[in-house]
Amino acid sequence: MTSFADLGLSSDILRAIADMGFEEPSPIQVLAIPPLLAGKDIVGQAQTGTGKTAAFGIPLLERLPPRQTRPRALVLCPTRELAIQVAEELGRLAAYKRGVRVLPVYGGQSLERQFQALERGAQIIAGTPGRILDHLDRGSLSLDEAATVVLDEADEMLDMGFYDDIESILRRTPEGCQKVLFSATMPGPILELAKQFLPAPEILKVIPKILTVPSIEQTFYEVRPDQKLDALCRVLDAQGLRKGLVFCATKRGVDDVASHLQARGYLAEGLHGDLAQARRERVMGRFRAGTLEVLVATDVAARGIDVEDVEAVINYDIPHDVEDYVHRVGRTGRAGRGGKAFTFVAARDRYRLREIMRFTRARIEHSPLPTLHDVAALKTDRILEEARAVMEAGSLERYTSLMEDFMEKGATGMDMAAALLKILLRRDIGPDSRREVAGEDLRFSGPTQVPRGEDSRPAPPWAPPVSRPRGGRKPGPPGTRHSSPRVRLSFNVGSRLRVTPGDLLGAIAGETGISGRSIGAIEIHDNLSFVDVPGEQADEIVRIMNAAHIRGLRLSVRRAGDGLRTKRASGEKVPT
Ligand code: ADP
Ligand code: MG
Repeated sequence: MTSFADLGLSSDILRAIADMGFEEPSPIQVLAIPPLLAGKDIVGQAQTGTGKTAAFGIPLLERLPPRQTRPRALVLCPTRELAIQVAEELGRLAAYKRGVRVLPVYGGQSLERQFQALERGAQIIAGTPGRILDHLDRGSLSLDEAATVVLDEADEMLDMGFYDDIESILRRTPEGCQKVLFSATMPGPILELAKQFLPAPEILKVIPKILTVPSIEQTFYEVRPDQKLDALCRVLDAQGLRKGLVFCATKRGVDDVASHLQARGYLAEGLHGDLAQARRERVMGRFRAGTLEVLVATDVAARGIDVEDVEAVINYDIPHDVEDYVHRVGRTGRAGRGGKAFTFVAARDRYRLREIMRFTRARIEHSPLPTLHDVAALKTDRILEEARAVMEAGSLERYTSLMEDFMEKGATGMDMAAALLKILLRRDIGPDSRREVAGEDLRFSGPTQVPRGEDSRPAPPWAPPVSRPRGGRKPGPPGTRHSSPRVRLSFNVGSRLRVTPGDLLGAIAGETGISGRSIGAIEIHDNLSFVDVPGEQADEIVRIMNAAHIRGLRLSVRRAGDGLRTKRASGEKVPT
């Protein structure tokens, strides 16, 4: 496996790449970066979403001489959106290259402003052919010192009628200027253009195999990026997943999503290449054993996953290429069981979804996100189904006699059933137990901006009369939020040992067998953590957990003493 470091990149670029969360170069990057660094011309064919921008962008930045102010590189893109996207990506890659300016130049923006920006100097220009030609004609842009010209998405540019413009731009580049052409397809006119301007290029081709994933029910949701977390919780809840695999594009994304899920009370862990091998194995072990509900992973980390009974795959970030989609989705529905796949699609990713559908020939159905009422209805179905199965199995005499006492006091069977259902639903999704859910009016597509203030969120039907906004598992005064009194336990581990709420939740649930859902607030300090647990189970938890280990350290667990509370009340801060 080739790493970015193997490609011989400078430390500036490697740092930027690490910040961006790229774990390893994509196939087209592995193929294109070395010859481009060597100054060769390239004709590259690769699907959308395969990382072509960095493939040409990294060498382009590496070849930039210091203190250059005149345009050194030009990237031609078919649309203004793509020009902006390319400029943004190049800007991120250049984050540690001092003094590098990347300027997007496209039609529709005021010429006056572009004159000024060009006047100030930029080493890299990403623009649409028409507007670039316009500046060349007006003399506000010169390619005299251009060392590289990139034709990005060449087939689309030709489809849009830019052939002549591209030709005249290329004619104005100096002798020996490196030329790079990337295109998803290679129709005749592209080959012609290539023959004329790139007489002896290296030809690179990365084409995904057409693979199909037939037995998996595939759905996509249109979700704005800032709504993804809420959407993820909805899907997890609506599906009632016991074993779900969530894919993120980057390591940082994995960490973010995993810790948000933990904070909302899910048994979730992240998996990516930065974690020590031992930890990865532990996480995998828990996922396999079923003590994790949700595993959040990058594509690379997930390659090692061999788990048979994954119920669903959720593409939190749409995969970079078609093959990744196939690999991801293929993680579910194994051993003949029907799996499900859900993909979140932001407006700017729609083209990628189309690409996936075209190449996998998959039917990915559009669906509105489940509403809170859907979630409640689905849970009710499941609970009632379970109840029916229990009734069929019989042997309920003991419970019937327990109920009889209550029924004599005048409640009907229907009242009692409804009350029990309410309790179960509330325990599972209500504000009493876990997760903060967004309001019913959360709309996931369409132009309307949705108010996201917590106060504007209507309470779900099962909410208690006075519902307070929850910020996940934040500490609160013990016992006020919960129907059963909680007891606060202290654990002798904390953030120094990189212990997360998920670790504690998982350890307690795993060791004692009590439901992760019944555990309340978790507070992590440097060398100490507090966990609110149901009062009636506190002693049992203390007993069992005192024999358990976290991060190799034997735990010492106690009921949190009054001493500490007094200390905090007297104003001494406990570090967080
Ligand atoms: P293309 O131009 O081939 O359609 P892009 O260059 O736009 O693809 O890249 C698609 C997405 O993949 C971008 O969000 C980019 O930041 C990301 N990306 C590029 N290279 C990598 C990589 N090696 N690892 C992870 N993500 C990457
Ligand atoms: Mg591109």
